[in-house]
Amino acid sequence: MAGLHIRSLLVTGANRGIGLGLVQHFLRMPNPPQWIFATCRDPKGQRAQELQNLASKHPNIIIIALEVSDPTSIKAAAAKVGEHLGGSGLNLLINNAGIVKVNTLDTETFEDMREIYTTNTVGPSVSSQAFLPLLKKAAQGSPGSGLSCSKAAIINMSSIGGSIASSYGWELMQITSYRCSKAALNMLSRCQSLAYKEHGILCVALHPGWVQTDMGSCAGHTPPVTVDDSVQGMLKVLSSLSEKDTGAFLDWEGNVVPW
Ligand code: NDP
Repeated sequence: MAGLHIRSLLVTGANRGIGLGLVQHFLRMPNPPQWIFATCRDPKGQRAQELQNLASKHPNIIIIALEVSDPTSIKAAAAKVGEHLGGSGLNLLINNAGIVKVNTLDTETFEDMREIYTTNTVGPSVSSQAFLPLLKKAAQGSPGSGLSCSKAAIINMSSIGGSIASSYGWELMQITSYRCSKAALNMLSRCQSLAYKEHGILCVALHPGWVQTDMGSCAGHTPPVTVDDSVQGMLKVLSSLSEKDTGAFLDWEGNVVPW
């Protein structure tokens, strides 16, 4: 990960699964970030125990409450992050939090469709808006004209399940609401890349692989990819991203995923 020199980053849904794995791997980097804002819904709750243990050993982890389906919570988190950073900016925003419901096309409900779109698509959109001033500040404070994750970037944790071209895993899981939410997240990523390029902010949608987490295993199958392998792969990808990649949809091994 020699190419990554990140002073500050924020991960949503950092208390378990891929989000927690990201925090662990950033800590293990030869040059770990000065600030890792690990956000979760309930920082004091049982589900954040592992993250709390990690933070007690690493003072560069700051745990902050952030419920991605609540704009007030997002704004409050952005204000707290701004306070911690003082005058400096945020280099990397990883919109990782997400949910799935194991529905079929026929069993999708109004409420499930709405909840999943709110969490997986609206959440990353509103979070990116809230942290934009801090991302812009990081970009302005970084030398050079190109784009990179070390400078300023938004990473949207998408899924190949949102690929209209591939129809990946349809026989195993229909999960239509999830697929629709991630297809929309992909479009959001492209829109962000178009709007924020001039501000020096790189934006990509990333598929982490089919990973051994609660979500990955939710339909009773064992996913092939471990959290460690997925996160290690994604960090390698992040370290290699440059201006030519903004607006792309990539997987954890750096392959372009068809839209
Ligand atoms: P997990 O179910 O293991 O973890 C999900 C995380 O998101 C938890 O920290 C959870 O917090 C958090 N979260 C859920 N809803 C909210 C919310 N409203 N506000 C804040 N945090 C929330 O999932 P993964 O780690 O597997 O998934 C991470 C991302 O990767 C997701 O966006 C997912 O769609 C994507 N992905 C995962 C794949 C896989 O195979 N695992 C494949 C493709 C994409 P809490 O503990 O409070 O519920």
